[in-house]
Amino acid sequence: MQIPEGGQSLKGFPLSPAFVYLRSDFINKHMLTMERTLTILKPDCVRKQLIGAVIDKIERAGFRIVAMKKIRLTTQTAGEFYAVHRERPFYGELVAFMSSGPCVPMILEKDNAVSDFRTLIGATDPAQAADGTVRKLYADSKGENIIHGSDSAENASIEGAFFFSAEEVVSVD
Ligand code: UDP
Ligand code: MG
Repeated sequence: MQIPEGGQSLKGFPLSPAFVYLRSDFINKHMLTMERTLTILKPDCVRKQLIGAVIDKIERAGFRIVAMKKIRLTTQTAGEFYAVHRERPFYGELVAFMSSGPCVPMILEKDNAVSDFRTLIGATDPAQAADGTVRKLYADSKGENIIHGSDSAENASIEGAFFFSAEEVVSVD
């Protein structure tokens, strides 16, 4: 009997290395771990002409952009987006900053996107952010810190719907 390469016998065919590789590759790409997160390139990022530099880092880290636009938030919409922080002392400043110029919200897709994106952008305060992170590289202060990243998959979904209609979200094949 002909023995398939990498297998013990015809009966063992499902465990041949090529089959196992193709199957795990398919699962990784399409099924188990794909996740979305919402980011905003904040007004300081746009003002400093860092849109391209930051998107380059995001794409090189393996994130796919499935939705993107450039808009200017009003104090009303910025206040709504950050409503969770409305009792915090920095809320007024945050709303003024986020409505001070255009920003670029995006929905990003990758496996483990929420957590991996928080790692990519670094700590809220750039002084505390790890070397090589977006905030360490480009942010000036804890308030004006270049970029937003959702803190959970549930919030990513809520924040994604805040900026984008279903028609504006298009997966990459
Ligand atoms: N922020 C601030 N002062 C603070 C904490 C936060 O101005 O002491 C701003 C900052 O722009 C931050 C945003 O409020 O990105 C939201 O705060 P959060 O704690 O959710 O930080 P993030 O999730 O953005 O790292
Ligand atoms: Mg947050």
